[in-house]
Amino acid sequence: MKTPFHVMLIPTLRCPARCAYCWSSEHQGPMMDLETVRAATDWIASLNDDPVTITFHGGEPLLAGPEFYEAALPMIEEKLAPRTVAFAMQSNLWLLDDRLATVLATHNVPIGTSIDGPPALNDAQRGTGYFERTRGGMEIAARHGVRVSVICTFTAESVKERDAIVRFFLENGYVMKLHPALPSLRDGRPDAYALPPEEYGELLVYLLDQYLAHLGRLRVMNIDDLVKSVFVRRGTVCTFADCLGSTYAVGPDGGIYPCYRFVGMDEWRMGDVRDAPTRAELEATPAWQRLAAFREYVDEHCKGCRHIRYCRGGCPYNALAPTGGEIAGVDPHCVAYKRIYDEIADRLNAEMFGEGGMEAMLAGRGRGGRPGIMALMQRMVSR
Ligand code: SF4
Ligand code: SF4
Repeated sequence: MKTPFHVMLIPTLRCPARCAYCWSSEHQGPMMDLETVRAATDWIASLNDDPVTITFHGGEPLLAGPEFYEAALPMIEEKLAPRTVAFAMQSNLWLLDDRLATVLATHNVPIGTSIDGPPALNDAQRGTGYFERTRGGMEIAARHGVRVSVICTFTAESVKERDAIVRFFLENGYVMKLHPALPSLRDGRPDAYALPPEEYGELLVYLLDQYLAHLGRLRVMNIDDLVKSVFVRRGTVCTFADCLGSTYAVGPDGGIYPCYRFVGMDEWRMGDVRDAPTRAELEATPAWQRLAAFREYVDEHCKGCRHIRYCRGGCPYNALAPTGGEIAGVDPHCVAYKRIYDEIADRLNAEMFGEGGMEAMLAGRGRGGRPGIMALMQRMVSR
């Protein structure tokens, strides 16, 4: 599980894949060097003593090569000792080989990779040959004991095949993390692949039902997070927690941003790791001020919503990037968040106070005697 303090290192924005709906990667651009990693680590050390998760993101982070990770991972661990450092990576795994897998296994780096469903469906939106290359990387990762979860991007097209996608995840035993395709800000047709918020909400409810119907055989990480949030009454992933000040990203040239999604956008740059800005200096930047203003906007705009404590207006990038930083509303996925949070909260109430009462609840029985939200919670606790 990620710690609340999270720094994303972006070795490069380059990526060899050509996914049709990608909004962030480039085909050229700089590569982070070890001096920048050193400066980034010193800057992290100067900020606080909290346990930290460091995620290598991109672009494609494996483009940095084995020498980079063989030097960077132990350097980060040594410089940040004795605090706890957890690593993670987001990669399509095309470039994973035995040497890279060895260093990632040694430093316990779990990887989130991306597959959108069965080969034909995946390659239709991610490019011919993508599936085989990623699956090859997953086999290498498995041989070395590197943990891999699978991010499944649902687009306006692929959502029509949701049954086939769930079947694919069930048959392969993959843990699913779902991602709704966002409007691409760098594409001439920004909405061509984007999943409309209403459909996203219905998809989440569908996946909740599938998860409960196949409890023990299917796992959807987003549903775990949503259920946990309702239960503990605070967001447990960045989308539903105030990420400002607990999440940062460092771009290939050492630029500091609020999150990997903003990397490369000059108006969101908050400084440079070589200057080791203090928290107070970061707070004075226009990027921080805009995000702080968004937080205040959420407090006001969402104050009547029953889910505000564990939703917090959703992702500020989703809300602010399409408007060039102007606050024109909360995360456009609000409709989806309301739909799934209502569903979870109502089912949980029915289980706790409905027919069968405490006995049914403790047995984890929901609608029609089938596994319910409590059964899912019990499974999470026992993991
Ligand atoms: S901007 Fe969005 S994706 Fe980035 S850390 Fe914040 S909530 Fe997460
Ligand atoms: S569900 Fe919508 S209204 Fe409610 S807190 Fe989230 S963004 Fe705000």
